[in-house]
Amino acid sequence: MKTLHKVLVANRGEIALRIMRTCRAMGVATVAVYSEADEALPFVAFADEAVKLGAADPAQSYLDIDKVLAAAKRTGADAIHPGYGFLSENANFAKRVAEAGLVFIGPSPAVIESMGSKTGARALMQKAGVPVVPGAEIAGLGDEQVLERAKQLGYPVLVKASFGGGGRGMRVVATAGELLAAIASARREAKGAFGNETVFLERFIESPRHVELQIFGDSHGNAIHLFERECSIQRRHQKIIEESPSPGLDESLRTKMGEAAVTAAKAIGYVGAGTVEFIVAPTGEFFFLEVNTRLQVEHPVTELITGLDLVRLQLLVAQGEALPAEARAATQRGHAIEARLCAEDPLNGYLPASGRLHTFELPGEVRVDSGFETGSEVSIHYDSMLAKVIAHAPTRAEAIARLSAALKRARIHGVVTNRALLLGVLQHSEFRAGRTDTHFLQRLPPATLLANAEPKDLVDTHAMAGVLAAQAHRRSEATVAAFAPTGFRTNRSQLQVHRLAHRDRVITIGYALGRQQRIEVDGVAIDVELHRATGSDIELTVGGIRRRFEVHRASGSTWVDSSLGHTTFTDVERFPEAKTQAASGSLVAPMPGKVVRVNVETGAEVERGAVLLVLEAMKMEHTITAPSAGTVSALLVKANETVAAGDVLAVVTVSPGST
Ligand code: ADP
Ligand code: ADP
Ligand code: MG
Repeated sequence: MKTLHKVLVANRGEIALRIMRTCRAMGVATVAVYSEADEALPFVAFADEAVKLGAADPAQSYLDIDKVLAAAKRTGADAIHPGYGFLSENANFAKRVAEAGLVFIGPSPAVIESMGSKTGARALMQKAGVPVVPGAEIAGLGDEQVLERAKQLGYPVLVKASFGGGGRGMRVVATAGELLAAIASARREAKGAFGNETVFLERFIESPRHVELQIFGDSHGNAIHLFERECSIQRRHQKIIEESPSPGLDESLRTKMGEAAVTAAKAIGYVGAGTVEFIVAPTGEFFFLEVNTRLQVEHPVTELITGLDLVRLQLLVAQGEALPAEARAATQRGHAIEARLCAEDPLNGYLPASGRLHTFELPGEVRVDSGFETGSEVSIHYDSMLAKVIAHAPTRAEAIARLSAALKRARIHGVVTNRALLLGVLQHSEFRAGRTDTHFLQRLPPATLLANAEPKDLVDTHAMAGVLAAQAHRRSEATVAAFAPTGFRTNRSQLQVHRLAHRDRVITIGYALGRQQRIEVDGVAIDVELHRATGSDIELTVGGIRRRFEVHRASGSTWVDSSLGHTTFTDVERFPEAKTQAASGSLVAPMPGKVVRVNVETGAEVERGAVLLVLEAMKMEHTITAPSAGTVSALLVKANETVAAGDVLAVVTVSPGST
């Protein structure tokens, strides 16, 4: 037994904070490490001590083993918690931590290593009697043999990176004709992202649920599971909503999967917190996918239904203690659902967003795990998750209602988020009925979910509120010499006109205030009664319903929040600019990021849709493709260059006659 006194958290953001909170509750001192980009984030301020590692690039900070170990030595930490991502599943790191005489809060290097390769893990599980997805290793095989293996598995097949993670390096292949190209491109992606190009094949299971089991082991031979989490709502093979219990399991399947997870844990002598991931086919058959040898992003779901603190259990086990009785006798109480609030635009290919959070408030009867606060900067260097919002209630329906209410009451200004999409999923009848599978967001894409969830008059009503607040603001700023309110007009030809853009739409608001109030949206008069107007607060009766609208304006954008929903408008002067640029054949960077690959040269003839270059931001890759067949007439960036949003990357001159 080794009592821990000071823990260094080799991570950032919400997970660093979450781990340090438990340490503090246990009387254990905390050390944060941070990069230049993260100096002002709450996890650095929260820690008892903090050490700056280096530049924003993870390779020079959070992934630099020597720097992390030096920080532990300097502060006298006796243990390192790796969180998730970064070095958490790096066996060499775990080994180096032990060699430095420190406790690594996680499983042994050998276990991490054995689960690090998906093919290695599959082989081990198969031997232990855990069902795995039918698959085939193809390393070293010729094209003919590869095609033969795929044929035996049956299409569609999934090409997967053996050392992959975060949904990257995967390709679904429907027919033999596409297989070899998909393998080549998965290899390239795997090489770039994981430094290893090994890929293998799995049968692609249609419409499965992703169901994973939380496991825990200690050094006294105990191995338990803490029930399941269903994580079927995914985009790009990455989870955005997770819950427990799974609406797709009955007691018998739950018992069988729990037993399989414990078998898996025992087979590898698992010590610490881990997750065994399975997919469950519509037939009820389940198949092993992988073991994540660390705390999982969605672990709060398990904490809420069991009442356990998983980080506390990790610390106890790391000290050599046995899993406490309450963990070994854990039960599932009520229902918990987590939503990952991310800085990204679901209507624009889930493009990650960055920038300053002017307002970031998440009130409600929910648990919020977040690494940001009002005023925080969301940088391009790390992943796009802003917060996890987790609701716990006696029933699934109540948990959904509680989570939805919290997301609606949140005030988030300054950065685009997926909040509306999360609400669209939570409110959809299919989700409410528990008909969840990993194709949910393909069947019901963001545009459909938003149209279903957002009231029809949301945008018009919010546009009016936004314009009226701007007007009130100007009036309050006007000098005393202005004797009449600027909006005061007596006849309709003298309506003041304002234009705002919302997504692809430009909205024209005409208004006259004073004795004869009038307001028009796109030329149509609306029956409105204005009760109160300041630069940030509007009270209006529209269609017989009186509501309050909160308005926030900054740098050309207007955010409006009300019981109807949430909208962001852009001043219209800024809007046409971007449109013209796109029309001239210039391809601009959709977000700040790094050029990871350039596939063409100046002068190249390209087909429509050809991949010209690949950008990376917030751990996601984005391909820039030719908008039409033509000639690459200019190429303005090189691989490894950093670009800002709006930078012109390349210009494609359209071939005559093509569209
Ligand atoms: P989880 O179920 O915990 O979300 P993921 O595999 O999606 O599991 O990854 C968890 C975290 O680790 C996420 O923040 C993800 O972006 C990050 N991550 C996963 N794989 C990698 C990797 N190879 N390199 C860097 N970060 C990764
Ligand atoms: P990662 O390490 O990136 O998390 P996983 O193997 O856990 O990779 O797979 C991530 C997701 O991809 C799963 O949650 C599931 O949605 C999908 N997936 C993985 N394997 C299969 C398969 N054989 N058939 C269908 N979907 C799959
Ligand atoms: Mg996985």
